[in-house]
Amino acid sequence: MNKNIAVIRGDGIGPEIVEQALVVLNKIAEIYGHIFSYTDVDMGGCAIDKYGDPLPQDMLEKCIKSDSVLLGAVGGDKWNNVSPEMRPEKGLLRLRAGMQVYSNNRPTKIWPQLADSSPLKKAILDKGIDFIIVRELIGGIYFGEHKTEVIDGENTATDILRYTESEIERIGRIGFETALKRNKKLCSVEKSNVLNSSRLWRSVMHRIADEYPEVELTDMLVDNCAMQIVRNPSQFDVIVTENMFGDILSDEASMITGSIGMIPSSSLGATTCGLYEPIHGSAPDIAGTDIANPIGTILSAAMMLRYSFDMTTEAQSIENAVFEVLDKGYRTADTMPSDKNESEKFIRIGCKECGKLIMNHLR
Ligand code: NAD
Repeated sequence: MNKNIAVIRGDGIGPEIVEQALVVLNKIAEIYGHIFSYTDVDMGGCAIDKYGDPLPQDMLEKCIKSDSVLLGAVGGDKWNNVSPEMRPEKGLLRLRAGMQVYSNNRPTKIWPQLADSSPLKKAILDKGIDFIIVRELIGGIYFGEHKTEVIDGENTATDILRYTESEIERIGRIGFETALKRNKKLCSVEKSNVLNSSRLWRSVMHRIADEYPEVELTDMLVDNCAMQIVRNPSQFDVIVTENMFGDILSDEASMITGSIGMIPSSSLGATTCGLYEPIHGSAPDIAGTDIANPIGTILSAAMMLRYSFDMTTEAQSIENAVFEVLDKGYRTADTMPSDKNESEKFIRIGCKECGKLIMNHLR
């Protein structure tokens, strides 16, 4: 298969971690007979420095025309004082809006080798944690009307939570499609005991469920879901929810797995052209020192293969390689135990070596 991937290295550790994801993708192409071509795209602080704009229109168009986008991270102290419209993160928001990616997908997976860095008890971890949160990304309360006014002599703030049936349906379908590619269990999370938008959410989810008879659909209230994520996370396969609930639940879920450097994400819209990036930022504090963990970016590339290119075997090959490298005791600095005696059991590796080891374990 031929695929054109737009590559945004970005700022801070972005270029280092993306380089290692490309090392892995190139090896996958060689093993499985694909051709991946890469289009470089400048976004974030580096684009501000070059063009005075965090995402020039021609760069956005390169992304829209690609088969998918792989992003490192953007931002850093250097650009903290530029005007709000010119901040590196504005480039990211414009990219998401320009690509029309309305669904953010974040897997929560516990790597057994890193279980010690999770705040959860071993008895909970032993049951296994491997689920994905599908979050609506461009609707709901974050995009509703926001206003602050004086009513009866008092400051009064209002934020509108609004969803249309079609907005719910399109994210609901992503939830079902994702479940179909996994263990076929979908949990729809809302607050239908209180909110009209949630009652509409629940009714739309059940209407479209008839089209996905292989998927088992359950409903859960968001407050219960927040509790279940720490109490019994192994019950989940795919969670689908609205923007604000997903924002909060996905941060909660990321904390139970250990290091932020391990977690990938994808954002998808109506087409298979997606945006794939690790969940962390540009980590300026460690940029250029070859100690960043590239695994979140490498696993984002694996998500791209699975969800945008339908290359399940190739994606699995990357995930297996990560598993083997961890299993052999290799650790980047962020996944090393803090206890000195414990850390002596592991082999400390840098960003480049981590990418190379994963490449060498691909089958
Ligand atoms: P951060 O995620 O960059 O870093 C938080 C901490 O985690 C730091 O100590 C960092 O060293 C560590 N860390 C992060 N990724 C790591 C990795 N792969 N390997 C090892 N350690 C890692 O968050 P921050 O420090 O709050 O933000 C730094 C910059 O990144 C800011 O300018 C922020 O706006 C930007 N940011 C960008 C994105 C994005 O591009 N999607 C997301 C979040 C933050």
